[in-house]
Amino acid sequence: MKNYYINDKRKLARRRRLIPILLAGLVIVCAVYLAWTHRQDVLDVFGSPAEDSVATDNATMDNSTMGNATMDNATAVAADVPEPPKREPVQECLIQDGDTLSSIFDKHLISQTTLFQIMDADEQLLALDILRPGNTLTFTFNADWSLERMVLSVNPARQVVYRRVDAENFEFEEVIHPGTWVQQTLAGGIEGSFFVSAQSAGLNDQEVASIADLLKGRINFRRDLQAGDTFQVVRRQQFVGDEFAGESQILGIRILCRKRTYDAYLFSDGKYYDREGNSLMRAFVRYPFKCSQRLSSAFNPRRRHPVTGRVSPHNGADFRMSVGTPIFAPGDGVVTRTLQHRFAGKYIEIRHSDRYSTRYLHLSKFLVRKGQRVKRGDKIALSGNTGRSTGPHLHYEFHVAGRPVDPVTAPIPIMSSISKKDRAAFKARVTQLTADMDQAKAPEAGLRLSQATTTN
Ligand SMILES: [Zn+2]
Repeated sequence: MKNYYINDKRKLARRRRLIPILLAGLVIVCAVYLAWTHRQDVLDVFGSPAEDSVATDNATMDNSTMGNATMDNATAVAADVPEPPKREPVQECLIQDGDTLSSIFDKHLISQTTLFQIMDADEQLLALDILRPGNTLTFTFNADWSLERMVLSVNPARQVVYRRVDAENFEFEEVIHPGTWVQQTLAGGIEGSFFVSAQSAGLNDQEVASIADLLKGRINFRRDLQAGDTFQVVRRQQFVGDEFAGESQILGIRILCRKRTYDAYLFSDGKYYDREGNSLMRAFVRYPFKCSQRLSSAFNPRRRHPVTGRVSPHNGADFRMSVGTPIFAPGDGVVTRTLQHRFAGKYIEIRHSDRYSTRYLHLSKFLVRKGQRVKRGDKIALSGNTGRSTGPHLHYEFHVAGRPVDPVTAPIPIMSSISKKDRAAFKARVTQLTADMDQAKAPEAGLRLSQATTTN
């Protein structure tokens, strides 16, 4: 009994020693199997005549040196890479966020040599530099898997075709479909925000954004609009066949509020005006910097000095910003001062017209000279912390007729208007657009669209 038990134990121990050996054998069999199946994949991909020398070299190497090293690599790759894409003679690719031309070419097994040839062809157009999600690329391959044709489809109205000319060159052709422009008048009422109301009237995001941009100098969309106010919009959209091509244009917008009417009409010069013919292209932008900056001390003509208690006006608005923040001219003008002052620090003054001027204090660096002409948006200085300053900030002043006003709330001046010779044509246009708007507005309930189709 005891002996038998010992015997049994030995048998068990022998069996235990066998287990790892059997497992090792199994692993080897699996590895060889995986390597073999992957070798088939590799041959499938590169087996057909490859499209250029690089790929051909790879294929030849794989064929000639299909030894242990290649097989080991193949095992490792087969474990974590799904099946390689099937090759179709025509392949389409919808551009996703983060895609690059190079990553797309890799995915479609197109060589870098071909990528450079295509980029060379695109040099004058640079259409491939701005691939956007939603664009598509369609590849057409030859029997030897060389790329014959690539079509970039930006939208239904615009395609760029890159066509192979010879082994080393492609040419491009831009295909523009004029499509059909459809003009519509939409009407709606304010319920909730303007954004939501405009969307439910049938305007798309881009159209709402351009309306907001057009009127933002005149209307505060949050404060000035109330439930019950109405609006009408004349727009035109481009279609190719039945498909919206992505292009639209606002021809006119009118917002009827309790107290006043806000409106904008596109004239043949490509600019927007209100019904009186005043340009809606603002002469100034509100702030001389790009990102929103925190207001650390507001304009206050009656500020009292914290120590003396005397009235000590604060003629500008202070915006906290780190030293070196770029400052831009908010309107066209001439630099009248670039000076260093004990308290104001380095500062600049720009005269925009007889009536308007601006000042920028506590700067760290001037980027313009006295007497220099500047255009709206030109970089004029870097902000700083010079002079008497309790921390890095920009002190910004806006002067109207020699007196400082609050740069945050002062009405932004509008300077140009329709010229005398265009007045009649402009009036006729406004009359026509407002007639469309009146008609769309007439049935108070809901929306009605008046449509007119014009072909360009
Ligand atoms: Zn200040």
